[in-house]
Amino acid sequence: MSAKIRLYVDAPLGAGQSIPLDKDQAHYLFGVMRQALGGHVAVFNGRDGEYLTEITKAGKRAGELTCVEQTKPLQMPPNLWLMFAPIKKARTDFIVEKAAEMGAMRIVPVNTEYTNSDRIRRDRLQAHAVEAAEQCGGTYVPEVADLCRLDRLLADFPEDRQILFADESLVGARAAIGAVDADKWAILIGPEGGFSDKERARLRAMPNVTSVSLGPRILRADTAAVAAMTLWQDTKGDW
Ligand code: SAM
Repeated sequence: MSAKIRLYVDAPLGAGQSIPLDKDQAHYLFGVMRQALGGHVAVFNGRDGEYLTEITKAGKRAGELTCVEQTKPLQMPPNLWLMFAPIKKARTDFIVEKAAEMGAMRIVPVNTEYTNSDRIRRDRLQAHAVEAAEQCGGTYVPEVADLCRLDRLLADFPEDRQILFADESLVGARAAIGAVDADKWAILIGPEGGFSDKERARLRAMPNVTSVSLGPRILRADTAAVAAMTLWQDTKGDW
């Protein structure tokens, strides 16, 4: 038995456990996806792995799923944060979606000196992370943090986390990520305007920062986020 539809739910999961469906979930399953009583849905909650469930109540505004069996254990991503300066809405959405697909554990929007968007809708971005996890088969959903100032974040940055600093001013410096012995990492991507000299100097002076070039061409921030995650995954990732 397998399910074509995958849904993120908040409820605890376990064999025999029932999961109430809210109005939006009921609308999606029964209105949009035309599912009915007895149908099967795969669910995950980011904590208990993935379960095959059966539809045991189906209504216009509510419904219920009942867990049949676990189909995947919880698989945690590597201990990697993606820190990035928000850009235009659609491109920011793209960054969050790709970070969730590519195995970020936490997504941290940062306000830098040249960030041109000083507000984010955290709930919207979190919903994008959930959708990405639903479609890529992941059993974990990265948390999207509130927007925070880069200078404050760096002032209080955990000493045991290595920052992979994507520095557009570096030319020809291939990343030596493999040589750095660290379990916890955070990729940092700047805004359209790049990093200020002050920010760059501060980052370069930190002991737990590895500066990398992503090649001789200046990438857009959304491209840079995917490139940096790919580069990191290549040597440190969960293959
Ligand atoms: N306005 C900046 C300039 O012209 O130099 C470009 C900023 S770029 C659009 C946005 C971010 O992507 C940068 O701050 C950096 O973090 C990352 N990035 C883009 N291209 C890069 C490269 N070739 N090497 C390292 N980082 C890069």
